Amino acid sequence: MDMTGHPRIHVFIAFAKIVAAATIVFILTILCPKPFIHGQGHTEEPPKRFLHESLKHEINFPNEVTFTINGYSQVDLRQLTLNYQISESKVRGYIYSEIEQEIAGKAFSGVSTLSTSGNSYIPSGVRIRYYFEARDINGNRYKSLTKEFDYLNPEYPWRSTQVGPMTIFWHGFQHLDVAKSGEKAYVAIQEAAAISNLQEVEPFRAVIINNPREAAEAFPTVSSTSLKDGLYGGFAFRDYGVFLIGGIGADGLIHEGTHIVIGQAVDSPFSKMPAWLNEGLAMYFESSDHGRLAIAERAYLNGELMPLSSMGAVPGKPRDVRIFYAHSQAVVKHMVDRFGKAKMSRLITDLGNGLSIDTAIEKTYSMTLEDLDSDWQKGVQPTFERRLIVDPGTFWTSTMMGIAFIFAVTVTGINWLRKKTSEPVDPADRLREDEYEEGYWDK
Ligand SMILES: [Zn+2]
Repeated sequence: MDMTGHPRIHVFIAFAKIVAAATIVFILTILCPKPFIHGQGHTEEPPKRFLHESLKHEINFPNEVTFTINGYSQVDLRQLTLNYQISESKVRGYIYSEIEQEIAGKAFSGVSTLSTSGNSYIPSGVRIRYYFEARDINGNRYKSLTKEFDYLNPEYPWRSTQVGPMTIFWHGFQHLDVAKSGEKAYVAIQEAAAISNLQEVEPFRAVIINNPREAAEAFPTVSSTSLKDGLYGGFAFRDYGVFLIGGIGADGLIHEGTHIVIGQAVDSPFSKMPAWLNEGLAMYFESSDHGRLAIAERAYLNGELMPLSSMGAVPGKPRDVRIFYAHSQAVVKHMVDRFGKAKMSRLITDLGNGLSIDTAIEKTYSMTLEDLDSDWQKGVQPTFERRLIVDPGTFWTSTMMGIAFIFAVTVTGINWLRKKTSEPVDPADRLREDEYEEGYWDK
C-alpha cells in the first residue's frame, strides 16, 4: 500500500509554507521599522516604575564614580543594572549592580561603580546620564528616573561661563578674565569653523585646570605625547566634545577649541588628518606664533626638520616635539597665506571625505607633500640672509649689529648646550618645563 505518497506531498507543502512564511517574516523584520515587530505581540512591555526610589552618585576623583539606588519594590527583584551615557558620545554601557533586598519589606538597594581612570579614563567636564533598571522573577522590567551631572573634581568650587557653543568650567579665576578670554577665543574658533566648512558648531566644553597638582589628577596618564598638546599641556577629546587646558590664556582655548571644531568638521571614521595639519591649523588661529616660526626657520637651516610625510603623529621624543609644532605651524601658515583659505577649506573637506593627505594635497595644490614643504623652505633662506646683512650706511651701526649678532649666537649656543646636558627624562619634569616655557600657569 502506498500510504506514504500523499502525506509526503502534504508534508512537503506544509514545509514549503513554513519556509515561505519564515522568509516573509524575515524580510519584513529587515524592512519594517521596530513598531511592526512590536505589533506582533513578541515585544516586552514598557518598563514599570519602582514604588519608590532615590538615586545618588559620588565622584571619587579621578578614579571612579559610584552610583547608588535605594528603593522600594512590590516584588522580588532578580537583577539590577546601572545604565549610563557619557555626554552625547557613543560611549554608553551598563554595569551589573550588587542588589540587596529585604524579604519582608521589599526595600532594596544597589551599588555600581564606573571606573574613570587608566584604560577606562573619562575626561572631566563630560555630562554623565544614568538610570537603574531591574528585572523581577517573572522577567518584568523596572526602570528608575534618569539623573545627570557634570563629572568634575568635587574638591573645587566649579563655575561655568557660556560663550557661544562653548561652556567653560573654571575655578580660582576672576569671572571677567574668563569671559574676556572666552570671547576672544570664540572669535578665532568661528574662523576655524568657517575654514573647516562647519555650518554650525556643536556645543562643546572646556575645563580650565589651574595648577599642576590638579593637572596631575585630571589629565590622562599617557606616556606618549601623541594625545597631549606639547605646547599648552592640553588635551582635546573629540568624541566627548571636551577639552582640558591649563590656565585661561586665550591661545590655549583657541588651540584646543580649533581641534574640537576640526574634529566636528572631519567627522568620518575613514578620514585621517595628519597631526602636522591638525596642529598647524590649531596654531594658525592663535593670536601669536609665540616665536615658533623662528624656531622652524632655524630648524630648517640646521637640517633638523622631518619630512611632512613622517609627521602624521606628534613625535614621542620630547626634543622633537618643539620642532614638530614649529614646522607644522610654519607650513600651514604658508599654505593659507600663499594659496588662500578657499584651498585650505577644500583640503579639509576632501580629507573629511576620506581622501588620503597625498591625494588631497595633489588635487588642491597640484603638488606633492614634499613640494609643499620646500615651497615654504624656499622662502626661509633669503629672509634669514637678509637678517645677516648689516646696514653698510655707518660703520657704527654695523659694528653694533655685529656685536649683537655674536652675542645672540653665544647665548643661543649656551642655551643649547644647557638643553643638551639637561635633557629631561621624567615625563613629569617635561610637563614642568612646558609650563615654565609657555607661561602656562600664568593667571
Ligand atoms: Zn594641538
